[in-house]
Amino acid sequence: MKESDMGGETCGMCEIAKYRMIKYEIEPGITVDAGKCKKCGEIAFSHGVVKKIEAIRSMDSQQRSIVQVGSSLAVPIPAIFVKKLNLKAKGRVFVFEQGGNILIKTKLV
Ligand SMILES: [Zn+2]
Repeated sequence: MKESDMGGETCGMCEIAKYRMIKYEIEPGITVDAGKCKKCGEIAFSHGVVKKIEAIRSMDSQQRSIVQVGSSLAVPIPAIFVKKLNLKAKGRVFVFEQGGNILIKTKLV
């Protein structure tokens, strides 16, 4: 289903009216295509938009505090990445400084 295909689909909530396409602000400054029911006002997102929202929401949870470990500093890696990249405690990663940012790679190449 394409994002624009939601317009004209019947509402999954009231099952009476059809959705019309609107721009919906999920976070300040972040607008996505959504279907809004003409009757009950139900907002629905296409599968592609849901994926996009999940990606944005998971990025929001990636802010971490730096902790002191001996003379080094450490940053907890969010559980979502631990799972996704199958990282283990005592596993090895490669840490780079790049343009004022820290880059952590699981493989050199
Ligand atoms: Zn409805």
